[in-house]
Amino acid sequence: MAEWSAMIRRKGDRIGFVPTMGALHQGHLELVSQAMEECGKVVCSIFVNPLQFNDLKDLERYPRQLEKDRELLAGIGCHALFIPKDSQLFLGLVPREHNMGGLELLWEGASRPGHFQGVVNVVERLFHYVRPDRAYFGEKDRQQLSVIRHVAREERWPEMIVPCRTRRAPDGLALSSRNSLLSVEQRKQATVLHRALRAAASVAFAHSLKATSEVALMILGTEPGIRLDHFGIVDPVSLKPLESWEGTDRAVALIAAYAGEIRLIDNLTLDR
Ligand code: AMP
Repeated sequence: MAEWSAMIRRKGDRIGFVPTMGALHQGHLELVSQAMEECGKVVCSIFVNPLQFNDLKDLERYPRQLEKDRELLAGIGCHALFIPKDSQLFLGLVPREHNMGGLELLWEGASRPGHFQGVVNVVERLFHYVRPDRAYFGEKDRQQLSVIRHVAREERWPEMIVPCRTRRAPDGLALSSRNSLLSVEQRKQATVLHRALRAAASVAFAHSLKATSEVALMILGTEPGIRLDHFGIVDPVSLKPLESWEGTDRAVALIAAYAGEIRLIDNLTLDR
């Protein structure tokens, strides 16, 4: 992979990179398409990163569909697909603790200890092989995006981190590889995440922060099949919970919840 990247760079092409865990859907493909618009050559990687799973069952049941993924990427003209083996990616890797400015302790980090260190160690390794100019990450995983931006800035990574908007199903559910694990019933129930976020957006800034949270939680409560892990209205940069709307024009509402054993996350920007 590193040799391929070096050859592309010698030709003067910019390399775009979309790291994924596979089981690709339209959300992933939009990242690839955006990268293709901005870069001469685009690499997508598929690696189900064991370091970022703190639940072994979640890792085992994570959907895998390599052949279909290859076809989807070929179908949109992605230039290269990188599928490293664990042994290759972890060769000589001693995972280290990155400074994440405390971002790793909030929300997803509180529920999944070690998750973000696992993500960043592998992203850094993937960057080492691919040597991209630009790397594309979805806002769907808002905290992951914030953590990667923070580390990239802190450690002076040369790669430009490019955020991409969340792609949704027509009923609002954020596309996710894990959605394929939902039963028909759970799939319907899962739309409550987006409905709760939209409800929060519709009253945000006009009503108090507390009332805005209550509206979202009330909507979530209408779906007993969905078990809330966390909901928060946060500062878009620090991801710390807001105390009030004062001095703020923009906030983010974050949700994580379970449908049965399947963990779902989503978020929405709230604008004044
Ligand atoms: P994953 O395969 O879940 O690790 O995701 C790979 C990349 O795709 C990450 O940067 C995600 O944030 C992004 N992504 C996943 N789902 C979506 C979506 N529905 N819309 C936009 N980006 C997404």
